[in-house]
Amino acid sequence: MSDLFHPMSDQPPSREAALSTVPVLLPLALDEAFSYRTPDHMSLPAGTVVAVPLGTREAVGVVWDNEASPAPTGRLKTILHPMDAPPLTDKLRRFIDWVSRYTLAPKGMVLRMALNKPEAERVERPRLAVRLAGSHPKRLTPARQKVLAIAASGLAYGKQALAEEAGVSASVIDGLIDEGTLETLVLAADPVALPPDPDHHKPVLSSDQQAAADQLQKKVQAKSFSVSLLEGVTGSGKTEVYFEAVAQALKQGEQILILVPEIALTALFLDRFARRFGTRPAEWHSNLAGRKRERVYAALASGEARVVAGARSALFLPYSNLGLIIVDEEHEGAYKQEDGVHYHARDMAVVRGKIENASVILASATPSLESRVNAAQGRYTHLLLPDRYGGSTMPQIEAIDMRQQQPAKGFWLSTPLVQAMQETLQRGEQCLLYLNRRGYAPLTLCRSCGHRMQCPNCSAWLVEHRQRRALMCHHCGHLERMPDTCPSCQAADKLAPCGPGVERLAEEIAALFPDKRCLVLSSDMLGGMERLQRELEEIASGQCDIIIGTQLVAKGHHFPQLSLVGVVDGDLGLVSGDPRAAERSFQVLQQVSGRAGREKTTGRALIQTYQPDHPVIKALLSGDASQFYTAEQTMRQQAGLPPFGRLAALIVTSPDRKQAEDMSRRLARLAEPPPEVVVLGPAEAPIAKLRNRYRFRLLVKTARHFDIQTWIRGWLARLPQNNGQLRITVDIDPYSFF
Ligand code: ADP
Ligand code: ZN
Repeated sequence: MSDLFHPMSDQPPSREAALSTVPVLLPLALDEAFSYRTPDHMSLPAGTVVAVPLGTREAVGVVWDNEASPAPTGRLKTILHPMDAPPLTDKLRRFIDWVSRYTLAPKGMVLRMALNKPEAERVERPRLAVRLAGSHPKRLTPARQKVLAIAASGLAYGKQALAEEAGVSASVIDGLIDEGTLETLVLAADPVALPPDPDHHKPVLSSDQQAAADQLQKKVQAKSFSVSLLEGVTGSGKTEVYFEAVAQALKQGEQILILVPEIALTALFLDRFARRFGTRPAEWHSNLAGRKRERVYAALASGEARVVAGARSALFLPYSNLGLIIVDEEHEGAYKQEDGVHYHARDMAVVRGKIENASVILASATPSLESRVNAAQGRYTHLLLPDRYGGSTMPQIEAIDMRQQQPAKGFWLSTPLVQAMQETLQRGEQCLLYLNRRGYAPLTLCRSCGHRMQCPNCSAWLVEHRQRRALMCHHCGHLERMPDTCPSCQAADKLAPCGPGVERLAEEIAALFPDKRCLVLSSDMLGGMERLQRELEEIASGQCDIIIGTQLVAKGHHFPQLSLVGVVDGDLGLVSGDPRAAERSFQVLQQVSGRAGREKTTGRALIQTYQPDHPVIKALLSGDASQFYTAEQTMRQQAGLPPFGRLAALIVTSPDRKQAEDMSRRLARLAEPPPEVVVLGPAEAPIAKLRNRYRFRLLVKTARHFDIQTWIRGWLARLPQNNGQLRITVDIDPYSFF
């Protein structure tokens, strides 16, 4: 820690000073709060956001709770002033303490997620309006007369709206403003969200749905902590069902948090919410502009905003009265944050629910094994929706054995899949092809010398993005122009794409179905979120015939005319060093297949695979998910893997490979694990270099009831001070193993 960050000098404090000090937690990589003197006659209760001197600068921190405060050891500095910001509630502070203890992230870094610090202060444009001011115009033209006839009502009008209504140009309005006939005024900003109406448009629920909704409403009525796992096949109406719980919490005057895994899809969700409750909820995610962000934050703190839908970071907002938390698509890997504070939003939602004494609902068609085990062991209430709503049937899933059906070189679609597509398109229905590979080709190779195009910063291949005429690293974002000659042997026209990406698949489709409209849905396509939303609407309204998509399409969409799903590479994801690979693969294939045939048509899903006998593929074909989960559960239990044991990853990185390797070895030597603990490694990480840092991994495996955090803390404390270049990242419950 550099001295700059230390606010105290070395003089001992006086007794008097000690009496009027408070601990202040700063949003920095620090675990403990610093003591500051409170200004005279000022009471600053815990949770107050304050400005404090820090070294030579000013920082914003939060008055923390006394037990966490170290004894002051230096001459105290005085808090400058409280900030005009909502205080952090007692419960939110306890949550921050908890998350920090659990993830081993410095408490200050967790606090940082709970403070609303807009990156760039983007100012919302004020909304201007005009209204009649009184003084008569010098000249009364017919155009002016029309304007004044409308303005005579005395109401305020938007300038443009008034000009349009009067059928005149805006300059007429300007002239009247200049002469003092009309005056301008600044309208108050729109409220963050209007109060939702629990009875706005209540659907008639099926009996299964009603039974589940009743149970959820009872949980909300109990006003105490509970977790319910709402498991229902795609199209069973989970959203409609948990909306009933939302309605109940609204009636009780409580706040509701709905976590969604993909911000690109929130707009659709917000509209759906509006159809049920008459108004959109507030939203929260990293793309929210500065001033809007501040207002949502304040509206949740004051209780004015009742419902927020957002990304995982919404867990750290200062709710005044949180009664219900919903985690939609709870199995989604996107809930795990992989940088800064490594936390899983589903797990932390349960923790926040416990602290807030709130109900928690986890919803999914393919729940995580963790949640299923919790339900089976009685910790969570398990609610099932076994059938699709409205009598539509589940899609029929078939495998295409690619060992027998291999397409010609450079092509990826087998004859049976192409035939099925033809039939579907002839009936006027839509097809979806799923391939979880962005770009054109995952590898570019020189056919002359064998050189492979690699990222200069990472040990990873560069992915061709033909639309952008570029090669891109999907790990660090490095972007370079596609060269004309091989950078190694200078041969011209020898660089060849290897393997398929969604862009390349689109070429094959264009050749096969030249008169059909095809859309590629991928999170990195040009045009951003707005384009994506427009395209999703086009698909829903049937304006496109074939959809090619990455994992973005696996997430809760409803495409009414889609009846065929083709999985281009069913084996992608089956093999990896990740203990959850099989589970994740099963979930995504099941979700993607579930996109087919959601309304009156019976859907069909075809999975291209070179391993038709793989347990994951067999489970999908059998339609018996529980068989797969049981086998997977037994395997995890025997291997002591989560949720039957605990895992933590330690990743040692440095720009100097030897330094990283030496430190990882040293770390292993210092481990001295007790019998309940196994330390595996160190081993060079599968991605051995990332953003110019070399990486070595250790994996810690312990029994389920072992306090892995305390043990790791003790272990790391035995390490000598490191020299700054080196970094050790702890990832409790890791979900990525690269
Ligand atoms: P899931 O989230 O389980 O996949 P959804 O909640 O998206 O299911 O429901 C699938 C479709 O069925 C949606 O279009 C939804 O509006 C419709 N739906 C479900 N239940 C009802 C109901 N009780 N009344 C009318 N429409 C319903
Ligand atoms: Zn890279």
